[in-house]
Amino acid sequence: MQSSHLHHVWDYRDVDRAFWQEHIASWLPRRIVDAHVHATDPARRLVKPDETMRRSYWVCEVSEPQTVVDLHRCQQIVYPGREVSAVIFGHPMPEYDLDGMNADTAAECASGPDHGLAVVRPSWSAEKIGALLDSPGIIGVKPYYALIGPSGIGRDTYIEASIFDFLPHHQLEVLNDRRAWVTLHVPRAERLPHPDNLREVRELRSRYPDVSLVVAHFGRCYTEPHARAALPALSADLGLYFDNSAVLNPAVHRLAFEVLGPERILYGTDNPVFYMRGRRQWRGTRYINRTSHPFFFNKVREPREIEAAYTLYMYEALRAIGEAARDVGLSGTDLGAVFHGNAERLLARADVGTGSGSDSTQHRS
Ligand SMILES: [Zn+2]
Repeated sequence: MQSSHLHHVWDYRDVDRAFWQEHIASWLPRRIVDAHVHATDPARRLVKPDETMRRSYWVCEVSEPQTVVDLHRCQQIVYPGREVSAVIFGHPMPEYDLDGMNADTAAECASGPDHGLAVVRPSWSAEKIGALLDSPGIIGVKPYYALIGPSGIGRDTYIEASIFDFLPHHQLEVLNDRRAWVTLHVPRAERLPHPDNLREVRELRSRYPDVSLVVAHFGRCYTEPHARAALPALSADLGLYFDNSAVLNPAVHRLAFEVLGPERILYGTDNPVFYMRGRRQWRGTRYINRTSHPFFFNKVREPREIEAAYTLYMYEALRAIGEAARDVGLSGTDLGAVFHGNAERLLARADVGTGSGSDSTQHRS
């Protein structure tokens, strides 16, 4: 069979079809909500990254904006026979036209199966956040520490910021009133285990309990030591949610299922980055991305026969979730919660999109 183009330098091959059949097709629920997807019209990128910027961090080389139309086309390819929708948002980076991007997200989600998050700057007023939540299709926000400052500054300039520096209290008050969804990428090089992150997540939850708080990527815990240092510390809060996007490590998924349980974990991909072909390896608190494309960051290659067997990172993540689910004995109902039920519950409670504060179920299918 021919390979089909997915996105950027990635395609879908026979090896991926075989991997899907062998490792995923038998257990993956029929309905899927991907709770973490970036969908952005490339025309909204105001400043193209130069070579220095592209080479500064692996994601910069891998992440090219993908339109919603392209996203839907790829979903048909990578999830054969599944009914898929997504929680989508633009690239949360200062070099993008955020207002234009949020308007695109709202328009696409008003008419389609997806739900949108607005990418927000911390400097925006409470009124502006309220107006965004009035947009049909927008159910919450995606803040990010890179948006603390102006464009042209490196991705991690503000990584040591406080959560409240990029998700300020005046915005959280509106988000709480509207029971909005917040996908939170935690700051700090130490990731979620940093004591200030644990303290601020707890503070956010106690002061703004009606926000649907979804901590992205298990708090950037891509390795088992990070997950062990963070997830048990937050396990007592039954109203705190996590998405498992960008996590390929079976040990992290297993721990999350054991410590948090399947009712608080939302499936996500972080696509378009995770169409990347290859595999990830872990050493202590570090991970190594293996891939077959000659990116700048891809200096140490694996033997040709190993690279030939690479599949998509998102498939490696799915296999890891499936293995972990089997190890801890999750039922079909549990998997349904992770892959769509938990997200659908949070979507249904958001009091947004009409501007009138009315029952959200009236305008959400
Ligand atoms: Zn993301």
